[in-house]
Amino acid sequence: MAGGVKYIFVTGGVLSSLGKGIVTASLGLLFKVRGYRVGAAKIDPYLNVDAGTMNPFMHGEVYVTEDGGETDLDLGHYERFLHTTLSRRHNITTGQVYRTVIERERRGDYLGQTVQIIPHITDEIKSRIRSLARDTGVDILLVEIGGTVGDIEGLPFLEAARQMRLEEGAENTFFVHVALAPVLSTTGEQKTKPVQHSVNELRRIGIQPDAIVVRTTRPLEEEARRKIALFATLPEEAVVSDHDVETIYLVPLLLEEQGLARYIERRLGLPEKRPDLGPWREFVERLLSASKPVEIAMVGKYTKLRDSYLSIIEALNHAGAALGVKPRLRWVEATDIEEGRIPVEEALEGVDGAIVLPGFGERGVEGKIEAIRYLREEGIPTLGICFGMQLAVVEFARNVAGLEGAHTTEVNPNTPHPVIDLLPEQRRIRELGGTMRLGASPVRIVEGTLAHRLYGTTLVRERHRHRYEVNEKYISKLEEAGLVFSGWSPEGLVEIVELPERIHPFFLATQFHPEYKSRPLEPRPPFIGLLRAASGS
Ligand code: GLN
Repeated sequence: MAGGVKYIFVTGGVLSSLGKGIVTASLGLLFKVRGYRVGAAKIDPYLNVDAGTMNPFMHGEVYVTEDGGETDLDLGHYERFLHTTLSRRHNITTGQVYRTVIERERRGDYLGQTVQIIPHITDEIKSRIRSLARDTGVDILLVEIGGTVGDIEGLPFLEAARQMRLEEGAENTFFVHVALAPVLSTTGEQKTKPVQHSVNELRRIGIQPDAIVVRTTRPLEEEARRKIALFATLPEEAVVSDHDVETIYLVPLLLEEQGLARYIERRLGLPEKRPDLGPWREFVERLLSASKPVEIAMVGKYTKLRDSYLSIIEALNHAGAALGVKPRLRWVEATDIEEGRIPVEEALEGVDGAIVLPGFGERGVEGKIEAIRYLREEGIPTLGICFGMQLAVVEFARNVAGLEGAHTTEVNPNTPHPVIDLLPEQRRIRELGGTMRLGASPVRIVEGTLAHRLYGTTLVRERHRHRYEVNEKYISKLEEAGLVFSGWSPEGLVEIVELPERIHPFFLATQFHPEYKSRPLEPRPPFIGLLRAASGS
């Protein structure tokens, strides 16, 4: 593309959790299907260096990138919508920026200077954004600024974006503001005042939005659109409705219908290109017309905040669309089983399949193990992921291989049978941030196994996020008792276990996280396998 990189900044107003990430991902897709090379980055204005150390209860899932970054869940949306692979550098946090600047200060790089937010922090932010665009060779880089305009912690990032407008020029930068227009329950009226206020807040910082995406429950009324456009000094076509739709995957189509990408193209001086949305439309149609219900138990402990398992839910949606089945999720809280509030046969009664979810720590573990026993004995199609896989090994060790008291040392360091344990190199690590086995690495799949039939190949790359491993000392014992080890890392660590199909219709558990690489147009084989077995299709 002639000229430099185009930067599209996405800000948010009024409230958080408006779906800015979906808007960013959707815009990315609309440019990608026009033939541009597109990247998307997320700015998180918190002091954590990465999302790895945050509680999923508060922030939702940690999304793991191919290169092992522990990032914000919005990167998952970007990768899924853009069908692309991003890196840890696509998630910029205050923690990273300050760390770099402070390290530089200690080295003496700023000798004699007073180190300040402007220019030192803002320069570091701009440099990260620009070098990311340069190093990834994109035509367009979308930069979503997390949080809400007006938050103190977001200010340096907005200031950096404002400066970029100046330095890169208006033809190379574009500001999309996503804000909420609430509908009053009493009068049913769509209120535009909060949008106006948040635009004011942006302007106060020196940013004039170039387009406004209005989040609302029902389509934006013409009157409301006019008001917002007038107030924000924008043509009406620059104000678009982002109302509630059946699935997030409809949002790109909604924005396209209103001409947003075309408008941005024009404003950035790009030639008009025809989008090829065919495959995306077909996917959305398959997703929406998938009618055969399959009920999947989601056995875990962060079941109150569904965002903790976002990529798994999306992976089920992708696989469901491919198979024409509609996954219905039954959230099974492992602590309810563990503490005897709900008997396991009641919690899992009538489900077509189950996923034993990833997790950490002791709480709910016995409940999960009890659920796994039931799923195994009753022949219910089951997929275990990461901790779910480790606990499947524990359950099998205890109840089939006769290793009484078998456990993972994460939960019981004194177990007589540590079937899941730390590797010696993990034992030496003291810091908790970024020290797990993280990111993608090869998995060798054993021929003739269920895993091999699913993947159709003997070598895949999957992403990881864990510390503990199957203890090699127990492998032959477990194998003798009938557990099949069907996937291995190049270093000889266990990656996949399964039960033979003559014993169980579908029982597969992976140490890696297959959900991170599921894409709308390319579902991941373990989810296809589970849904196929669960739906009998
Ligand atoms: N807690 C387990 C480990 O650290 C599993 C982690 C996970 O499920 N992501 O190995």
